[in-house]
Amino acid sequence: MKRENEMNKEDLLNKGYRKYSGEEIEVYFSKDICTHSGNCVRTMPTVFDTKRKPWILADNGEVDSAMKTIDLCPSGALQYIYKKDDK
Ligand code: SF4
Repeated sequence: MKRENEMNKEDLLNKGYRKYSGEEIEVYFSKDICTHSGNCVRTMPTVFDTKRKPWILADNGEVDSAMKTIDLCPSGALQYIYKKDDK
């Protein structure tokens, strides 16, 4: 499982995703893939706020809700890796 996570992480970075680390999850975002639907900022503005820098704060809300919000991203520009198996 951990191995797979590592590969995914590398894949994402190789594809141009940027990493936003949190305690339990790492959030990845690709500005090139984002279609600006606004789903993420509407659904969970505490974590996703385009007026803030960094605009993603992975720990600024319930982790479960953040993961569900990321799953709803229509373009795939948002991804996450759950860090449970790390360490
Ligand atoms: S939900 Fe996905 S496609 Fe929509 S604004 Fe957020 S990152 Fe971009």
